[in-house]
Amino acid sequence: MQEYTSCHWLQHGLSFENDHIEMCCLCCHKGGGRLYIKENYNGKGVSWEDIFKLKEKFIEENKNGIIDKRCEGCFNLVNRGWEEAAQFINYIHFNHWTHCNSDCIYCYTKWDKKAFNSRPHYKVLPMIKELFKKKLFKPGGEITFAGGEPTILNEFEDLVMFLLKNGADRITVHSSGIKFSKAIEKGIKEKKLSVCLSADSGTREMYKTVKRVDKFDKFWQNTKKYAEAQKDIEDKIYVETKYILIPEVNTKKDEIDKWLDLTVNAGIKSVVVDIENDYCKELRDTNQAKPDFLVDLGNYIIQKTKEYGLNLVEYNNFRYLTTEFNLT
Ligand code: SF4
Ligand code: SF4
Repeated sequence: MQEYTSCHWLQHGLSFENDHIEMCCLCCHKGGGRLYIKENYNGKGVSWEDIFKLKEKFIEENKNGIIDKRCEGCFNLVNRGWEEAAQFINYIHFNHWTHCNSDCIYCYTKWDKKAFNSRPHYKVLPMIKELFKKKLFKPGGEITFAGGEPTILNEFEDLVMFLLKNGADRITVHSSGIKFSKAIEKGIKEKKLSVCLSADSGTREMYKTVKRVDKFDKFWQNTKKYAEAQKDIEDKIYVETKYILIPEVNTKKDEIDKWLDLTVNAGIKSVVVDIENDYCKELRDTNQAKPDFLVDLGNYIIQKTKEYGLNLVEYNNFRYLTTEFNLT
């Protein structure tokens, strides 16, 4: 294995975005990401061969110490030995960014929700079927669904059922939790799929403030139903609730406590925390330090989740906070 600086997404990953395909979905580091594989993508016009060819080009540059500027500051860059051939896929991200049954105040789609909800979306299932047929997906690889609400897309149930049937066993779905999905439930039962449900609140009032839809009861009803699909008591890692900290909106400790109580009472053992992206970007762009209250809150959440015996998953902006201030 040759040693050089690279990242696992560049080597073996890709992200399906609304109208293009990228190497990854990372964009909150200095370089800003956006390593395009195919712009103006509508489900056609790129083959797996084209993708691997482009990956080889970037990999050759990395081998020669030329790191693309867009990767600068990304925590995924590491210097280590990499497998020689890039000819397999191990990480797939679906970020369709069309349609959602929530209307979160921090979502970038808030500028025009109507336009966002009517954006066309292409089918990925044909390309995914080809990937598996050609045995180009390495067993054990990770598949994630994110932005927009995946469960309301026409092909979602078929796509997840196909993945479950064809050996994918590390699938993560980010969902608003407002619509219940049988495919997700099946994946949880088979211990092949985890669902991360967007709570962002501990009370109905705050839920309505952040989500701008009145679905607090539905959310917790579905969350409990997914939690019940987890089989072993020791193995409850397949359902998580997520909280995005939005300064001056949902960052009171009391609200966090209520969210943690609801989560534990629903039979969930794992939580995800992040910080609103626009807020962090503003701090970054204006060279401002993270405020003390945020550091204090980060610490509080870490200690609280320990008390509750919860697994804490740190998403990007929260991870930058805990790393920078050495919070443990
Ligand atoms: S280093 Fe970061 S930005 Fe660059 S391809 Fe990898 S994950 Fe994406
Ligand atoms: S659930 Fe996700 S896609 Fe939907 S409005 Fe909220 S942040 Fe945006």
